[in-house]
Amino acid sequence: MTFHATVAGVPRIGPDRELKKALENYWRDSSTGRQLTSTITSLTNSYTDELLSAGLDSAPFAGRSFYDAILDTTALLGVLPERVNSIADHDNDGLPAYIDRYFAAARGTAELPASAMTKWFDTNYHYIVPELSADTTFTLEDQALLEDLRDQIKRAGTAVRPVLIGPLTYLSLARTVDSSNAIDHLEALFEAYARLLPRIADRGAEWIQFDEPSLVTEVPASILKRVRSGYQKLVGASELNILVQTYFEDGDRAIKTLSGTGVKAFGVDLVYGGTELPSWTGEELLVAGVVDGRNVWRTDLDKALTTLRALEKRGPVAVSTSCSLLHVPYTLERENLGEVQAWLAFGKEKIAEVAALSKALRGEDVADFFHESREAIQHRAQSPLSHNAQVRERTAAITDDDRHRDSISTRQAAQQEAIKLPPLPTTTIGSFPQTQEIRGARAKWRRGEIDDATYKQAMIDEVADVIARQEALGLDVLVHGEPERNDMVQYFSEQLEGYLSTDHGWVQSYGSRCVRPPIIYGDVHRPAPMTVEWYTIAQSFTDKPVKGMLTGPVTMLAWSFVRDDQPLGETADQVALALRDEISDLIDAGAQIIQVDEPAIRELLPLIEANQPTYLDWAVGSFRLATSGAPNEVQIHTHMCYSEFNELIDTVSNLDADVTSIEAARNGMQVLAALKDAGYELGVGPGVWDIHSPRVPQQEEVDQLLQSALDSVDPRLLWVNPDCGLKTRGWEETTASLKVLVEAARKARA
Ligand code: GLN
Ligand code: ZN
Repeated sequence: MTFHATVAGVPRIGPDRELKKALENYWRDSSTGRQLTSTITSLTNSYTDELLSAGLDSAPFAGRSFYDAILDTTALLGVLPERVNSIADHDNDGLPAYIDRYFAAARGTAELPASAMTKWFDTNYHYIVPELSADTTFTLEDQALLEDLRDQIKRAGTAVRPVLIGPLTYLSLARTVDSSNAIDHLEALFEAYARLLPRIADRGAEWIQFDEPSLVTEVPASILKRVRSGYQKLVGASELNILVQTYFEDGDRAIKTLSGTGVKAFGVDLVYGGTELPSWTGEELLVAGVVDGRNVWRTDLDKALTTLRALEKRGPVAVSTSCSLLHVPYTLERENLGEVQAWLAFGKEKIAEVAALSKALRGEDVADFFHESREAIQHRAQSPLSHNAQVRERTAAITDDDRHRDSISTRQAAQQEAIKLPPLPTTTIGSFPQTQEIRGARAKWRRGEIDDATYKQAMIDEVADVIARQEALGLDVLVHGEPERNDMVQYFSEQLEGYLSTDHGWVQSYGSRCVRPPIIYGDVHRPAPMTVEWYTIAQSFTDKPVKGMLTGPVTMLAWSFVRDDQPLGETADQVALALRDEISDLIDAGAQIIQVDEPAIRELLPLIEANQPTYLDWAVGSFRLATSGAPNEVQIHTHMCYSEFNELIDTVSNLDADVTSIEAARNGMQVLAALKDAGYELGVGPGVWDIHSPRVPQQEEVDQLLQSALDSVDPRLLWVNPDCGLKTRGWEETTASLKVLVEAARKARA
């Protein structure tokens, strides 16, 4: 009936990215639906078995997931986007009838655009955004889920705990196509789930989990009231015990909203949320997330046990992870991370920690496990690997002056003098197409099939070609094209001390896409210049200015696993100092323009408004620390994308970059109004070409976008550029589109 140890959620991609491979084979038509299903089923089964054999007594089960849990929910509720309904069902060989429509929403087809994809709260996981309208009605397409559940329970027993996305969270993340309010469907969604629960109970389940991370955010009281009565209905709908799971922040709001409704358990994040939980009366089971589900460090078991014991005095407690293990790699077993390895816990190791804590709580002997863990944590705390005296001295000596440049008007005058640019200068964001040849050469080089010199020459040839093409197009500020970079964070992390890369530490970024985030384990510093040679090579091929190209401190943190033993701002400043040195070396090598990308600055924004100022303070401070060493005549650019920045214009302006390129074409340049209202005084390049699709924009479209930019931005401040880097594009579309862009600038100048 009750349980003692579990995890909040499980990864889906497979320890060897089996899901990715199975999906790609299926999409390529080189495997059948049955093969895809069997891969997914065996991944799910083996994870359930792993949890139960490790000693956990409840295992979350979200059904067969083909791409993303939110999209699975969308399909379950029968609300895949209207436009994919033209795709007919066919014999799907064991897959659900909706599968083609499902994949069309996830990835688009030749004719149909994909649904939007965006970041899951403040993580680097992307979900497929539901598209609802005022007429949306929820029908249950639950056959696949129910069959899978029955099989799971038959195999593994009633420890299997089905998981659904909670109504508030689902609707909070949805967009509407008709400007209606998605939350209007709250009652209807609760009713749909109320129809589903008895069927789930029928398959033998005892518990049901609703993931409601939106309950950690500032939800208006009127909505909370509706959520409360919704859950009250769900409680009455079946015999199932309901667990409401929150994560990423304080879970107390969920408890406060739902206690006394008959909800049987609350799952809360005790790593990133508070441990006080003033609203928990001890009536319900508290599923205590004391093991960090989204970072890779070992748990301080003594501390966690103290928390658990204190809570247990108030009521029943089960041990869990702070959030789904979706966000961390599967296991450390195949890694070779030297001394640092002992400091870490990936998925499998976290499961063992949960099991050990639960045993300790029940008085079983886990002394050896605790002892080993304690030693590793002590070792980490004292290790010279994590503390570098020189770096510490340098960060301690940072002054406010190090984060300030002269006034923008002084800089603008100096830059005008030094860098001769036409009005409305044209440029790109950094990367050019990463062709098969480039990726092939890098793979061969990594496998040792070609030597360093051959690889490097291939990249130099590529840079020469990219420069020649930009000259031919008539662009004003050139880039080297980033062919040598696999990934904008990994490339730098491999060259910085304090960072480690894993061999198999894959985590799902979205659908079939996985990333291997590096781990920041120690004080970060730069043993040698990282990009100067590439800049120099590129600049040697042209008389036009070439931009130096760096990844900013916030993004370097956002796409890595970060240290948990010091404030993020301190780590960011260490990265910033490394970048500051790099910028100084680039300037010595002749660079007049240097771009420091911060695409992730929005993504780390805390979910709770009250915590945002502190974050913005260190985020902006670290960017300024990186860039403020540049003399007046050197132009600092930055780039932002992946989100809307309308509410963050002040932050963008505080970065004090001379020029900011910003994603804008996709949402019809909404950012312009915000820039205008803010009286923005710095250079800005709102993207005039949406690079996220292979489509070449029409001349009139780009002319018009540029014209609307001119209506809002002082022409002396306006730059003409695409939305983002071009590495995912092909050459043909790239050349054709850039021609359009350059022509638009030419016409506008005239
Ligand atoms: N300079 C990078 C590029 O062009 C920026 C990428 C990004 O914004 N994500 O690829
Ligand atoms: Zn971008």
